[in-house]
Amino acid sequence: MSPQRYRWHRCRSRHLSGASFAQCAFPNWIPIRGNGQWVVLSRCLISSISLHGSKAAAVAELQRIDAEKCDMGCSLQHELGFIDLLQAQPDISPRPSEVA
Ligand SMILES: [Zn+2]
Ligand SMILES: [Zn+2]
Repeated sequence: MSPQRYRWHRCRSRHLSGASFAQCAFPNWIPIRGNGQWVVLSRCLISSISLHGSKAAAVAELQRIDAEKCDMGCSLQHELGFIDLLQAQPDISPRPSEVA
C-alpha cells in the first residue's frame, strides 16, 4: 500500500514536526492526534487525522478504522499518508491534490 505524500501547502514556515505541518496544512481537520510523519486521514463525515511514528503503526490504525469505522458517519474513505518534512519547502505553490 503506497502512501500519499504531503509536501506543499500555502505557508512560509519550515515545519519540524508532522504535528505542526498537519495543524498548518489541514487546519479544518479535527482532531489531530499523536505525533510523527505517518498520517492516517479519514475523509468521512468528520475529517480527522492521526499521526504515527512508523508506517507499521499507521497501517495498523488504518486497518483498525477500516474494520471498526472511524466515526458515526464513516464511509470508509481512509487514506495512508506520509509528511515529507525534508522535502517540504516554503514559497512553493501547493499542489491541491496533495493538501486537500
Ligand atoms: Zn505550514
Ligand atoms: Zn471513516
